[in-house]
Amino acid sequence: MTEVAPASPRTTLRRGANRAVYERDRVRAILDAGVIAHVGVTTDDGPIVLPMAYGVRAGETGIGDGEILVHGALANAMLRAGRSLDVCLTVTIVDGLVVARSPFHNSMNYRSVVVRGVATAIDDPDEKAVALRVINDHVAPIWDTARPPSASDLKKTLVLRVPLAEASAKVRDGDPIDDDVDMDGPHWAGVVPLTTTWGTPCPAADLADDVVVPDAVRALGGADAHPH
Ligand SMILES: Cc1cc2nc3c(=O)[nH]c(=O)nc-3n(C[C@H](O)[C@H](O)[C@H](O)COP(=O)(O)OP(=O)(O)OC[C@H]3O[C@@H](n4cnc5c(N)ncnc54)[C@H](O)[C@@H]3O)c2cc1C
Repeated sequence: MTEVAPASPRTTLRRGANRAVYERDRVRAILDAGVIAHVGVTTDDGPIVLPMAYGVRAGETGIGDGEILVHGALANAMLRAGRSLDVCLTVTIVDGLVVARSPFHNSMNYRSVVVRGVATAIDDPDEKAVALRVINDHVAPIWDTARPPSASDLKKTLVLRVPLAEASAKVRDGDPIDDDVDMDGPHWAGVVPLTTTWGTPCPAADLADDVVVPDAVRALGGADAHPH
């Protein structure tokens, strides 16, 4: 594999550096597979980290020129604060519980991405609509089968972009790493995989009978929707 240098000193893994991933494609793949980003900011009453939906827009030459997009209440609070919007976004996927012979070596298998940067608001209505679509369609392309947002919907929603220039990923996989002294002991060691899957789509109780499940929604669950 080609060695790719970290984007900056502050996104260089020091602890567990052997698990560092800086390749744009691999960082992007983790962002594509994630569902929520934990977004951390410093506020007047202390730091806060909130889970948020997100979307990823790649730049013309790859993820280094791309951006991560978030919208909604935190964006509102951040913008109201009127400060420079230094943020840290973290996306985490847990792939398994790593059970070691000694609890000191218990761990998790995971893929995580940390993005650090300055968030700025997207004000242009057309660009905002595109960004909202990217966020909406992050998990599945559900934008096109819903009612398009009105001008007032767009006005009410704040959207932030954070450049993907400073991103790092960390990936752990494989067995527990126990001490030699424990290898012949009686204690179990191994990995319990964790998979997250979408279930069968359930129509809203007030949905009219003749409204069909959009293909993109049906595809998520991978099975027929519950009957209405
Ligand atoms: C599901 C999960 C559970 C974890 N549990 C623990 C735990 O219980 N205890 C613990 O100490 N650590 C845990 N970690 C690892 C943790 O995220 C840190 O990587 C680790 O604590 C080292 O922190 P540090 O500040 O010393 O890292 P440093 O290597 O000093 O961090 C420097 C830079 O590396 C990057 N970086 C660091 N960690 C990550 C990461 N996870 N993903 C992407 N980029 C990263 C960031 O850009 C950061 O600014 C867990 C990680 C995951 C994903």
